[in-house]
Amino acid sequence: MMDATDRPHPPGSEPGLERLASDIVTCRRCPRLVEWREQVAREKRRAYDDEEYWGRPVPGFGDPQAALLIVGLAPGAHGANRTGRMFTGDRSGEVLYASLHRCGLADRPTSTARDDGLTLRGAWITNAVRCAPPANRPTTAERDACAPYLTRELSLLPWRAVLALGAFGWDAVVRHVGVDGPRPRFGHGASATLADGRPLIGSYHVSQQNTFTGRLTPDMFDEVVRAAMTAAGLSAGLTRGRPDDADPVTR
Ligand code: SF4
Repeated sequence: MMDATDRPHPPGSEPGLERLASDIVTCRRCPRLVEWREQVAREKRRAYDDEEYWGRPVPGFGDPQAALLIVGLAPGAHGANRTGRMFTGDRSGEVLYASLHRCGLADRPTSTARDDGLTLRGAWITNAVRCAPPANRPTTAERDACAPYLTRELSLLPWRAVLALGAFGWDAVVRHVGVDGPRPRFGHGASATLADGRPLIGSYHVSQQNTFTGRLTPDMFDEVVRAAMTAAGLSAGLTRGRPDDADPVTR
């Protein structure tokens, strides 16, 4: 028999997002990723030897009323797979949250633990794949197995624009939402219009490979976050992250 949580939820529904999160954290669909995420959690990195790793799939995080959706690849083995929150506890997250704070989307510049009190305003952060993959490379089958979670998340949030971190996140959004015409090419600062009219903006991923080499600098990232905020109808310094203009986006 159907209960209240089985009925379709409107965008911004906190019960819908909570239900999605509980489905994600108990998922064991991908044997290779289940084994890897749990092995990393058992063996740990020496620096975190006294911590209990999360070692499970990681649900999205942010403002249920988010106008801006940020989509990356997958949790970091010793970041989100350790702390249980997207981009939390590693260098990628340091770059991401510092920028979100400078741009007015986060109430503090750091993200260290699930219970550190961080809140986002107007933004929601997620990944195309919810379990940490070996070498940060999910297989096509793993990507496809995880895809329904992103589909649900896209329908549960009142987003107006997406910022894709890296080509994997870009392709995932294009695949889920669709585009009219030729498939748009990913690039840093690239933009495309999705089939439903909402904009997609691309950024190099905030991974160490990009930030340590200077391929992606804090200024470059701030600039693309601000462009995505503008596309989503958000402005820096917002108090609760609501779009500047109240017109609903046609869904
Ligand atoms: S990657 Fe996604 S589908 Fe695969 S086990 Fe993790 S949560 Fe489940």
